[in-house]
Amino acid sequence: MWVNAWTSMKMDKEQRWWSFDWNFIDSVRNQMNLPEKVIIKDDTLREGEETPGTYFTIDQKIEIAKVLEEMGIPEIEVGYAAGIKEHADTFNALKNEGIKMKLSSHARMYAKDVKNEVDSIIDAGADIINFLLVPDPILKTKNDVFNRIKEGIEYAKSQNAYVAFGSGRVVPRYWQKFLEIAIEARVDRIVVYDGNGCALPITFKDNVIFTKKICKDIPIEVHTHNDLGLAVATTLAGVEGGAEIVDVVFNGLGDRAGNAATEEVIMALEILYGINTHIKLDKIMEVSQLIEKYSKTPLQSHKAIVGKNCFIHESDLHVEQILLGNWVTWELYQPYVVGQTRKLIFGATTLQDRAIKAKLIKMGLEPTEQHLKLIRKKIQKKIKDQDYITEEELEKLAQKLII
Ligand SMILES: [Zn+2]
Repeated sequence: MWVNAWTSMKMDKEQRWWSFDWNFIDSVRNQMNLPEKVIIKDDTLREGEETPGTYFTIDQKIEIAKVLEEMGIPEIEVGYAAGIKEHADTFNALKNEGIKMKLSSHARMYAKDVKNEVDSIIDAGADIINFLLVPDPILKTKNDVFNRIKEGIEYAKSQNAYVAFGSGRVVPRYWQKFLEIAIEARVDRIVVYDGNGCALPITFKDNVIFTKKICKDIPIEVHTHNDLGLAVATTLAGVEGGAEIVDVVFNGLGDRAGNAATEEVIMALEILYGINTHIKLDKIMEVSQLIEKYSKTPLQSHKAIVGKNCFIHESDLHVEQILLGNWVTWELYQPYVVGQTRKLIFGATTLQDRAIKAKLIKMGLEPTEQHLKLIRKKIQKKIKDQDYITEEELEKLAQKLII
């Protein structure tokens, strides 16, 4: 493997990936307030099921939870234990199956009776009561909201629950007031939301920094949406601001344009920030495919990390360099890392002079210019009907023509 001296690359010790060295220089790192560790909280069972057209049966949820646990996810959001009977049954079923991950339930700050809400969630067996404050006519005045935050958190704490509280797109002075009330009521965790994809990454980071100043040691979770395709960027900006927990959804599923994709956030934390997530990365593909099947939401072929195109190479220089073992020239990480496989194909963009020659030499053949011309002509003819030919097809073709 070779690299040009002018490229700035920081290679992983096990050569699983490399990163742009510039990600790690002081002028960049000094702008970050990275936490010591990041907890990956997967929200596929709740938010993923909110994907239009997606419904997971309890058995499918158990199967998904098991593979998430196997890959090392420490915490999942399961649903609305108080609002939806089947969600409450899911908590029970997951506990009966011996799932050890922390199970979180959304709690509606706008519920008619917040004490009932808390009791039902505790009865269902949730480990985390996650109060969400959204705009709602039930809480009309600011005092309604202040009282409800206090009442909800205080009651849940009196029942010895672990309590999270969060909201999004809040005017700073109100957010400060909400936080002060929540802290006074002994909240355990704060969640900063961008439920509409309405924040710039830098705004969201500022929101987290603002929150952290008030909350001090109380851990902060972030939850973002992808309405402008920025959910992963916003989540990572939240981590740069100091957020310790990321609420993410496999395959980027979720309402509307979805959420920050679990697999993308994990790989970005590992590669771009050098944060060890303690996740079994080679399980990513298997989990993604299971969720793709059960969610009935097919992935686009060029979806980052888990799309089928991620490690298919066709263009001339790319194929040549992969054949020569220089994967770093055109790949950021090796396919096996996430359970993918690499594939070379020969099509319209491979018909220059380098890839085919490299392939034939690798086969131990000694192609002349005449051979190469002939092979290119044959490929050109074939790809009129089949878009490209596979590596195996090229091998057969070459053996027929050269030996
Ligand atoms: Zn959401």
